Amino acid sequence: MNNEWNQDKGAWLPKLTRRRFFKTVGAASALGAAGLNSLQAWADELPRVSEDSEMALALNYKHDAQTVDAAKRASDRYCYNCSLFAGAEDDAWAGCSIFPGKVVAGRGWCSAWSPKQ
Ligand code: SF4
Repeated sequence: MNNEWNQDKGAWLPKLTRRRFFKTVGAASALGAAGLNSLQAWADELPRVSEDSEMALALNYKHDAQTVDAAKRASDRYCYNCSLFAGAEDDAWAGCSIFPGKVVAGRGWCSAWSPKQ
């Protein structure tokens, strides 16, 4: 074990090597979207959710929220202002716990939308 002294904690802790870092990231990915939500940097490497997937169709997901029937969606609701969107407001794509392992469009929308608190 390769340890190093942590001044803040006053203890010897395992050194975070590059290899261990990527093993940890791999484990987080295996946990699904919950793990990925905190790893926004990896969003660019994830595939975009398909609008034709079973889950997307069930939730009326669209990459462009403005193409959704106005009767189904309030005009101010987008993925970027949904509590399940893992990105920032100006991120074009980011993870969403509804679609593990995929990214959704910031300007997208689905019927599972919920307001950020
Ligand atoms: Fe977008 Fe929210 Fe639906 Fe995820 S749950 S696809 S972030 S509206």
